Amino acid sequence: MTDTLDRAKEPEMDFDVARRRFLSGGAALGTLALAPGVTLFAFPAEAKPAHEATSGSVRWGLLVDITKCEPECNTCVKACKAENGWHGFDRPKTDVQWIRKVNVRDPKSGRKFSLPIMCQHCTAPTCVDVCPTGASFKRVDGVVLVDKHLCIGCRYCMMACPYKARSFVHEAIDDQKPHAPRGKGTVDACTLCVHRIDQGRIPACAEACLKDGHGAILFGDLNDPTSEIHKRVATIATTQIRADLGLDPGVRYHGI
Ligand code: SF4
Ligand code: SF4
Repeated sequence: MTDTLDRAKEPEMDFDVARRRFLSGGAALGTLALAPGVTLFAFPAEAKPAHEATSGSVRWGLLVDITKCEPECNTCVKACKAENGWHGFDRPKTDVQWIRKVNVRDPKSGRKFSLPIMCQHCTAPTCVDVCPTGASFKRVDGVVLVDKHLCIGCRYCMMACPYKARSFVHEAIDDQKPHAPRGKGTVDACTLCVHRIDQGRIPACAEACLKDGHGAILFGDLNDPTSEIHKRVATIATTQIRADLGLDPGVRYHGI
């Protein structure tokens, strides 16, 4: 597996190449830049009440409208860092990244767009399939997580993830958030802010994007016909990145 969504090689990508690799091929995603977007979703989406147990009837997911995602905006990334206590050490090839911005420009049309990439919370997660200890697991509501007590840092899951969504922690961590335990020698990834959604809140990236006036990230229950995310996915064109792999990501994109 070479070059697949190689984060260190992302910055400048020909749109056609990027899109081909992105949607159906097997290579790098680039940091995209696009035209200014306006507010996408004017509502904060749904989350389960705190007193309710995790339910298998729920499928938490995100719908990212890239027509609303500003190319220079990094609000979602900053919010994720602040919420979950991760940051870089000026080592782009190995720094932890739970979420990253990718920019694409179409040289023919001049069209540009920008999108955030995080763990896609797949229905059939390859990271879980290859984990030898059971540290990688999927909750019944679709959230894919890592049990840091079981993770031995073998990084099989990182190799198996086609979205390069996981990171290895190379440095000692002394400023962890209680809700997001992390440790040197283990693997990290977006938790879909499970600590927030279990309290009836929405993920930090979605909340920050909304507060910033973009509203490009909508969180909700993909299984609930009354949810805004369900209605939108049912009525507008959406894309699952690398849908050809059959992993059925819980993160959907509109506008690619
Ligand atoms: S995006 Fe990668 S890390 Fe996340 S569930 Fe899918 S395979 Fe696993
Ligand atoms: S859902 Fe939470 S953990 Fe995942 S990218 Fe958004 S802010 Fe980060």
